[in-house]
Amino acid sequence: TDVSVDLPGREYLVRIGPGALEACRPELRRLTAKPSAIVADEAVLAQHEDALRKVLPELPLITVPSGEATKSWQSYADVSEKLLEAGVERGGSVVAFGGGVTGDLAGFCAATLRRGCRLVMLPTTLLSQVDSSVGGKTAINTASGKNLVGAFHQPSLVAIDTSFLSTLPKRELLAGYAEVIKYGALGDPQFLSWLGERGDAVLALEPAALTEAIAVSCRAKAAIVTEDETERGRRALLNLGHTFGHAIEAEGQYDGRILHGEGVAIGMVMAARFSEREGHLSPGEAERFEALVARSGLPTRLADVPDIPADPGRLLLHMRQDKKVDSGAMTLILLKRLGEAFVAKDQDEARILDFLGEEAQLP
Ligand code: NAD
Ligand code: ZN
Repeated sequence: TDVSVDLPGREYLVRIGPGALEACRPELRRLTAKPSAIVADEAVLAQHEDALRKVLPELPLITVPSGEATKSWQSYADVSEKLLEAGVERGGSVVAFGGGVTGDLAGFCAATLRRGCRLVMLPTTLLSQVDSSVGGKTAINTASGKNLVGAFHQPSLVAIDTSFLSTLPKRELLAGYAEVIKYGALGDPQFLSWLGERGDAVLALEPAALTEAIAVSCRAKAAIVTEDETERGRRALLNLGHTFGHAIEAEGQYDGRILHGEGVAIGMVMAARFSEREGHLSPGEAERFEALVARSGLPTRLADVPDIPADPGRLLLHMRQDKKVDSGAMTLILLKRLGEAFVAKDQDEARILDFLGEEAQLP
């Protein structure tokens, strides 16, 4: 399945399915004709080097350790130096092979190497296949927080080979699935009910269902990004569940106790419950949504992540610090119905705090 991202003058192809990497051979040959290099996650390489080398046998290979700590100033400097030593030119490509960490780091290197060279994404986690590899956001983390230094830099090609997901730990797969549900919840009621029926098949990695779920997700993201590349308006809808979710992640100190997607799953259900409490969603809708999320095996309540302290006051502080909060007024992404989100500006903090208190009491 092919999806195209139609940014004016910078259109690119997203090819999805089992064997998508091989199917991109001609495109890859063209994009790596000038000196290019691969940046690969060490753990992914250990499992899939043969598949990668079959398609890109000769490119210099730069490996990076697995894990969020790799999105650092240090790796940015190291990888950039190695890309220059490998002779990567502006007309050549940086090829990212791994999950969102590798894509974000390699993408930021590509954005600044020789003032910008080409970027090819070969995402290997479900999260990176449905979210981070499309859209052009790249970043590293700093002492002040996550993703605070980066650039918008669109890839030239995204090859989403679903066969790589066979080795992905189940917990990581589910975390990526939370973002799939997000696309349904924010703008596609039909997709949401499709997931109700076919979600199990997607999570069982049935090729047709999996390819369909990723294609719908990428199309949704591409449509929003095309409309609003640099997040001034509609792109904010992609943050559904993320303000609550980031607060929970921050309570877990970003140490692996909770994965981003798990925070997003709880955050989306909280956004639904808050929407219902504020009268935007009709009674019972939040519960229906929670059932769909819970069925996949994702957490939906603070009580589902017992090793994370969920102090309402501190959660609110984290929400305030979230970068989506501007000029003191809290903006949330809320639901009008299951399948339609909206930007809710100037949310009253006292009401949010009451709500967080209720959430912390849920069994
Ligand atoms: P990740 O890259 O850390 O991958 C998760 C784990 O899975 C790692 O341990 C990795 O080694 C392993 N792994 C990857 N592919 C595998 C495979 N096929 N088989 C076995 N193991 C595999 O994490 P992620 O969830 O892919 O991405 C999270 C990152 O993405 C965060 O840093 C987040 O900020 C970023 N992100 C960026 C955007 C964006 O728009 N740029 C969007 C969402 C998230
Ligand atoms: Zn996310």
